[in-house]
Amino acid sequence: MRKKVITGNWKMNNDLGETQNLISKLINGLSNETLSCDVIICPPFTSLQEAGLLIKNTPIKLGAQNMHQEGNGAYTGEISAGMLKNVGCEYVILGHSERRTIFGEKDELINLKIKKALESELKPIFCVGETLEEREKDATTKVVERQITVGLKNISSDEIKNLIIAYEPVWAIGTGRTATPEQAQEVHAYIRLLINRLFDVQTAENLVIQYGGSVKPDNAGELLSQKDIDGALVGGACLKADSFIGIIRSA
Ligand code: PEP
Repeated sequence: MRKKVITGNWKMNNDLGETQNLISKLINGLSNETLSCDVIICPPFTSLQEAGLLIKNTPIKLGAQNMHQEGNGAYTGEISAGMLKNVGCEYVILGHSERRTIFGEKDELINLKIKKALESELKPIFCVGETLEEREKDATTKVVERQITVGLKNISSDEIKNLIIAYEPVWAIGTGRTATPEQAQEVHAYIRLLINRLFDVQTAENLVIQYGGSVKPDNAGELLSQKDIDGALVGGACLKADSFIGIIRSA
């Protein structure tokens, strides 16, 4: 049985004061709950250290939203896996569609980042998903297959144990338009089949596959009840403690 994982991607939101405020509301709101799922928050780089200190001794775990594929060096403006580990990160989101579309990240680069993260003992939350145009052309599985095949090239089944895949249809991110539970389940089942083909049945069965794209407290329950949906990657709704806690409760 796979444990559900709920991740909040704060994107470029929350300064230090807002970070303290949101985390204290989350900790208070969750203090009387016995969590049956894992909860990860991914604040911006400038809030990671503070967030790491605030969630110490709570069940909430820390992740970053991106990292560079090299260990160190002349890469102005970049952050390494070691730096993220150093401030308490356990996870890192890689290949998010905003990184792919706005910052031009390609599958090959994402593969290098995934390898570096795993080598550095950071767990990647590896995002894949098709655009609206690709869905309308019936290319969803082809796109997701390419993203996963290239993204996980030269990675062993042993390493996949420390990786989460997030299926995030680009047309559902930040749009208020969610994939139906059936649409999401269909792609999640396909991803599990693909992992079975690329690795082995046990790796596929154990893999956590999150859904992301306009997840809210009122649609989370149905999405999370699907057989192959093992959690959610949440954008907008994780910025308010009440709605993020609502989603955590649905899991
Ligand atoms: C995301 O950015 O990963 C995301 C799923 O955003 P939202 O929940 O706002 O659609």
